Amino acid sequence: MNYRNLFDKLAIKILFDEPMSKHTTFAIGGIADVFAVPSAENELLQLSNVAKQYNLPIVFLGNGSNVLVNDKGIRGLVVSMKGLEEIVVRNTTITAGAGVLLGKIANVAADNELTGLEFAAGIPGTVGGAVYMNAGAYDGQIGDIIKSVRVLQENGKIVTVTLDNLKFGYRHSILQDKKEIVVSASFDLKKDNRDNIKQKMLDFQQRRRDRQPLNYSSAGSIFKRPVGYYAAALIDECGLKGLTVGKAMVSDKHAGFIVNTGGATANDVLILIKQIQDIVFEKKGVRLETEIVVLGGKE
Ligand SMILES: Cc1cc2nc3c(=O)[nH]c(=O)nc-3n(C[C@H](O)[C@H](O)[C@H](O)COP(=O)(O)OP(=O)(O)OC[C@H]3O[C@@H](n4cnc5c(N)ncnc54)[C@H](O)[C@@H]3O)c2cc1C
Repeated sequence: MNYRNLFDKLAIKILFDEPMSKHTTFAIGGIADVFAVPSAENELLQLSNVAKQYNLPIVFLGNGSNVLVNDKGIRGLVVSMKGLEEIVVRNTTITAGAGVLLGKIANVAADNELTGLEFAAGIPGTVGGAVYMNAGAYDGQIGDIIKSVRVLQENGKIVTVTLDNLKFGYRHSILQDKKEIVVSASFDLKKDNRDNIKQKMLDFQQRRRDRQPLNYSSAGSIFKRPVGYYAAALIDECGLKGLTVGKAMVSDKHAGFIVNTGGATANDVLILIKQIQDIVFEKKGVRLETEIVVLGGKE
């Protein structure tokens, strides 16, 4: 299909045949047929309408920090939400567009003497991806501080959903089941002293630098935490640090991370994931489930 004609009339940033390795923290992934970056809600709606009208598959992407894009790439339309970057602070509530990076919103909160987002400062995702995944670290998770979320529903309508209806669980929100897209989110924070907040953020970030292989491309923890265990500890106890397939390797700093040592393919990562799952199950009797989302891959 000649996709170019479908998007001719839209005044939206659109790229064709875009390598997804440029848009994922793993630096892995084949080509997306169409890659669009809307900068406002109405542009998002226009894209969703074109996709509906021409029956184009559509995938939404934040900062690409929790995804593995297949080597065959993504057919149809990828919508990067990173252009939705408005931030509004009102009393103790911050409302941010889906594309705002967590580091940015955590700093805005600190500058406004608002506590609650410190845990998120070092997570390299967007507000939208973090709400969708209920991202969390140390003493917090997104679901604990959400007031409401504006979502784009499958029927093309944008509505506000309040906390009670989002059904947050461990790395889970109802948006995953309903296939709803975060357009913006409002966070309910509390007043505190700016220096305390900044110090807490710095401490968390130092802990990350000490424990995580941040000098390599990765998608963070590959596996969810199994009930009663830590995935990284299980993998380490099985002696799998340094296990390599092609250019994908189990980090020797943090066994929960698979790192791209340079030019890894999605296939390398998928084979390595399967090897880790099989060995951990054989030796420990625990089935590791992936936390990362695999996108694309069909012809
Ligand atoms: C070094 C490193 C450290 C990390 N540490 C942590 C951590 O401590 N805790 C943690 O929870 N995670 C961590 N992660 C994983 C990741 O950063 C989080 O899951 C983050 O919330 C993902 O956000 P994103 O914008 O990058 O989402 P993406 O990776 O772009 O997308 C993830 C999923 O969310 C969907 N999505 C994206 N945007 C939207 C939207 N607006 N509406 C609906 N769906 C959307 C995508 O379709 C995809 O299914 C880490 C990753 C890295 C690389």
